[in-house]
Parts: sequence; structure tokens; C-alpha cells
Amino acid sequence: MRTEILGVGFDNMTVEQAVAEGVRLLDTAGAHYVVTPNPEIVEICRGDADAMEAVRNADLVLADGIGVVYGAKMLGTPLKGRVTGIGFAQQLMSRMSENGKSLFLLGAKPGIAEKAAANLQRQYPGLRIAGTHDGYFQEDEPVAAEIAASGADAVFVCLGAPKQEKWMRKNGPATGARLLVGLGGCLDVFSGDVQRAPEFFQKSGLEWLYRLAKNPSRIGRMMKLPLFLVHVAGEKKK
Ligand code: UDP
Repeated sequence: MRTEILGVGFDNMTVEQAVAEGVRLLDTAGAHYVVTPNPEIVEICRGDADAMEAVRNADLVLADGIGVVYGAKMLGTPLKGRVTGIGFAQQLMSRMSENGKSLFLLGAKPGIAEKAAANLQRQYPGLRIAGTHDGYFQEDEPVAAEIAASGADAVFVCLGAPKQEKWMRKNGPATGARLLVGLGGCLDVFSGDVQRAPEFFQKSGLEWLYRLAKNPSRIGRMMKLPLFLVHVAGEKKK
């Protein structure tokens, strides 16, 4: 049973439980995908039926963002905690490294995925990088075919929301991979081009504030957070 917040059902899991499930899916036939909605994505889903469908059909729906954790609490159905996409990805790569699994990196501007691949290869020596592709392409089919030809076990799909969620739903089976994970701007972080917030901000749930200070043009996107909380309060009244 998922914890429903404004139509999006979240899996109530710790990061360790989520990674264990990811590892299990890697060894289970068929294409599976993971989404990590934050309040901004929940708000997008409310106005985009295809995005909602893509998120609801995911095999794992992880609560990324402190706003989702607050929202669940307000509704009287608290979650175990926040599971960030990046934290999930790091622990998954550790496990994949132990098992000799292969990973394809899809997304971000040209050159970024290659840089990320080189860094990840150093950090996770047993992990095999099956290939990379930037996120600015016109047709899906050739990209999915390239992933299939690479034989990747997993794909990190970093195209921003809701593009990546829709992409995984539509193209997952054609990639031949067992597990696809939608991870937004993570390749920019793995490449070293974008710094993650210092630990203080991460631990206190203020990572959004750090990102806003670094990049004030995000304000339009960030305003979705108060809107999300207003909508959750409305739901509670009902
Ligand atoms: N991106 C992409 N293709 C597109 C649009 C975006 O590959 O058509 C990439 C973009 O370069 C960035 C990521 O998707 O690396 C989105 O990052 P953002 O900061 O929006 O993601 P967040 O982590 O905030 O969801």
C-alpha cells in the first residue's frame, strides 16, 4: 500500500529498503523504473495526466524532498523519511559494483555524462559503465536501441521532470535494461560541474535553500513548494 499525497502514491521506505528493492528488481526479468518525486513534480502531475500516469506506474516511488515528508505528516500518514534520488543512486551503485553490474548514463548537456562516467568508474571500481548519451536528442528509438546494444543492466535517466518519467514509461522495455532510475540533475553533480549543498543544508532539510541561493532563477520552480503545502492542507480538510 502506498502513501497517497495529492494523487501520487509514495513507497514508505528507508533508503536501505529502497536500495534492496532496486537490487531485487535488477535480478527480475522485465523493465522496471524508479521515480523520485519532490513537491514540484507532484504539482506537475496534478496538471499533466501523462506525467501522473508515468509516476503512478513506477515500480518504486521514492519521497525526494523534505516537502513530501511534511505533506505526508500533515495528512496523518507519516513516511519513514526522505529518500533522495542521489542517495539512492549512490547506494545502488555500491551494490552494482559488488555484483559487477553495468550502468548506462543518459542525460544532461553533451560531455557531462562522459565526465560523470569517468568519476563514477573511479569511485565504484567494480561498476561497469555500459555507455553514455547526452539528453538533447530528437528521437527516442535510436537512443533506446543504443542502450539495448550496450547490454546495460541499469540506466540513470537524467532528462529533468516530467520528461524522464514519461521517457522511462514509454521506452523502458526497448532499452532491455532491468532497472531505469529518473534522477534529474544528478549527472551534473556526478560530473563535478554542480556541487551538492554542504552537509548542514542536506541534514536540516534546507538543500532547496542552498540551491536557490546558488541559482536564483529557480525561484519560479521553488514557488511550487508553498503551493504544494496549500494543496495538501486543502486535501486534509476534505
Ligand atoms: N536535461 C536534459 N534534456 C532535456 C532537458 C534537461 O538532459 O531536454 C537535463 C539538464 O541538462 C539537467 C537535468 O536534465 O542535467 C535536469 O536538471 P534539474 O536541475 O532540472 O533537475 P532536478 O534535479 O532539479 O529535478
